[in-house]
Amino acid sequence: MPTTLSVFRWSRGERERWQAFDVEAGPDTTVLDALVELQRRRDPTLAFRYACRVGMCGSCAMVVDGRERWACRTRLATLGPGPVTVRPLYHFPLLRDLVVDMAPFTDRLRRVGGALAPAPEAEAYALIPAGSTERREIDPAIECIGCGMCVSACTMVAHNARFPGPAALNRAFTLQRDSRDIGGEARWSVLLSDDALARCHGQGNCTEVCPMGLAPTTSIIRLRQMAMRRLLGFG
Ligand code: SF4
Repeated sequence: MPTTLSVFRWSRGERERWQAFDVEAGPDTTVLDALVELQRRRDPTLAFRYACRVGMCGSCAMVVDGRERWACRTRLATLGPGPVTVRPLYHFPLLRDLVVDMAPFTDRLRRVGGALAPAPEAEAYALIPAGSTERREIDPAIECIGCGMCVSACTMVAHNARFPGPAALNRAFTLQRDSRDIGGEARWSVLLSDDALARCHGQGNCTEVCPMGLAPTTSIIRLRQMAMRRLLGFG
């Protein structure tokens, strides 16, 4: 099945442009397959990022036909007759063509205290029972692969550079709810600032695109509930 890929191109010193490529696609040809083929046979300068190729690492995240998706799990046959547009993630600095700089993603995580702060006297392997409320609340939020699709889809990220964004707030929730962590107070001072929890408009764009089925919107709501309990002296 012939189809056309319209690919965003840019490199330093050049103007942005869209380049059309005709590709031959079978029923299982993915967007990533097509890009690899183009790079090998048509234009070796075409830049994009990928690693695992099997929907695990999230490094091939890009915007395909106007929606954030992983290229390795998006079959061209599911996208209609084309032309299929392929562009880099939004809200990240562009490095070249479809490749963005992911450093701001880790900066955002760092800003909310995204690393576990263990108690000094903590036992090496603290056990949180599988059936506990804590475990059940945290579990659905821990499979983030750091792809950045939610950040790209979040309109508040575009509007307010200090807003930590969905992935960082989702991570913050898993830590604020984790009884092994002692970094909660420092984290609350960031989360309760003008530019964090209060800024989320709750439209759920992040949750809609997350390839892992995570719901950062729900994590943000849970953080707000915890913050309210804390302000009322219950948390
Ligand atoms: S929360 Fe989902 S969309 Fe956001 S970075 Fe993690 S895996 Fe990607």
